[in-house]
Amino acid sequence: MKVFKFGGASVKDAAGLKNLAEVVKQFALDDLMIIVSAMGKTTNALEAIVWAYCDGRDTKELFEQLRRDHLAVLAEVAPSDVAVAAELILNFDTLRATLDRAPSGNVDKDYDSIVAFGEVWSTLIVSAHLRASGIVNTWLDARTVVRTDEHYRSARVDWETSALRITELMDDLEEGPKRIVTQGFIGFSSEGTTTTLGREGSDFSAAIFAYLLNAESVTIWKDVPGMFNADPNRFPDTKLLSHISYKEAIELSYFGASVIHPRTLQPLQKKQIPLFVRSFMDLSAPGSTIDDRSENDSLIPSFIIKPRQLLISITPRDLSFIVEENLSVIFKLFAEMNVRIDLMQNSALAFSVVVDDSPRSRELIDVLRAEYEVRYNDGCELITVRHYDEETLRKLTAGKELLVEQRSRSTARFVVH
Ligand code: ASP
Ligand code: MG
Repeated sequence: MKVFKFGGASVKDAAGLKNLAEVVKQFALDDLMIIVSAMGKTTNALEAIVWAYCDGRDTKELFEQLRRDHLAVLAEVAPSDVAVAAELILNFDTLRATLDRAPSGNVDKDYDSIVAFGEVWSTLIVSAHLRASGIVNTWLDARTVVRTDEHYRSARVDWETSALRITELMDDLEEGPKRIVTQGFIGFSSEGTTTTLGREGSDFSAAIFAYLLNAESVTIWKDVPGMFNADPNRFPDTKLLSHISYKEAIELSYFGASVIHPRTLQPLQKKQIPLFVRSFMDLSAPGSTIDDRSENDSLIPSFIIKPRQLLISITPRDLSFIVEENLSVIFKLFAEMNVRIDLMQNSALAFSVVVDDSPRSRELIDVLRAEYEVRYNDGCELITVRHYDEETLRKLTAGKELLVEQRSRSTARFVVH
């Protein structure tokens, strides 16, 4: 079995869906698991609905817009599929009914159950379009397989239960080619609630399914022709990383290379399943291969720049050293509030961290202030350079105020203003 993953950009409109069918026809007509994200910017729109819903504001307009857009795309790509049209309408009705009830009081839980609709809608449409194009397939609700804990908005996978579920599922499928269309990003807890794996989590879903199925390979179809040594939208003369190891890819995505979600690589590495990153816009482009067979990794300098970072400095009010107890309390708060630390540094009296500047991070600062003296710098950039050379470092930091600098043998990191 192969796994293909299509992100939001690849299914943003009818043309994207037709292209997806073309990719499937050209590259994988037999056993295939297709993982799809929500269409285009649907997840952002659903987030806006969640915030409005939780604030008691009106959600009608946003909701109607999404409903109209999805029904219009379905009408274009599978005009005679009345069964799926009915199913889609039913799904919108279910969301409407949810929004007409009062929030549960747990924002993250409500978030997951609302935002997950995006993937359900997109997969219903993809499945219908493939069928209309003569590609027989089964639509699967990923929540019947991917079991998670109740850590809403970044749920953790229960691998054992999920493995049992997939075995049952595969046994139930009819003989012949197995072609399945399912959602990325979403899961189901043992409490029976919908969960999500965190924004951009569909890549991780592809890895989860590949792991559970012992797949032969995973291909992530993107709007860029592979992994590059820097963001091609920001820098001229970027180079394709045509063959890199899992380890290198984990490092790059951990530091913020947005091509693949950081959690994707580990399950693949465990089972030695190769990952291909290819362009859905240029089907002849070779793309990047990530596996452990690469003898000579592309060890050219790669750099990743994360904008809109907050550099937060935390000091105990009583000037007690930042010892283990303080650190464990601080880490616990970050984990509880789902704020990811991108870089950290400590001295005797202060613990400094770099995080994305988000409403959550700002909230966390307020919480920390109850116990600690907290100062911060906003508008920072976090620059990470793998396999650095002095020339690259000089170019990247020229004319910028350097706030933090860290270097290891392979990686240099800077917080600049
Ligand atoms: N639709 C989700 C998001 O936009 C998951 C994904 O695209 O990977 O975050
Ligand atoms: Mg998306």
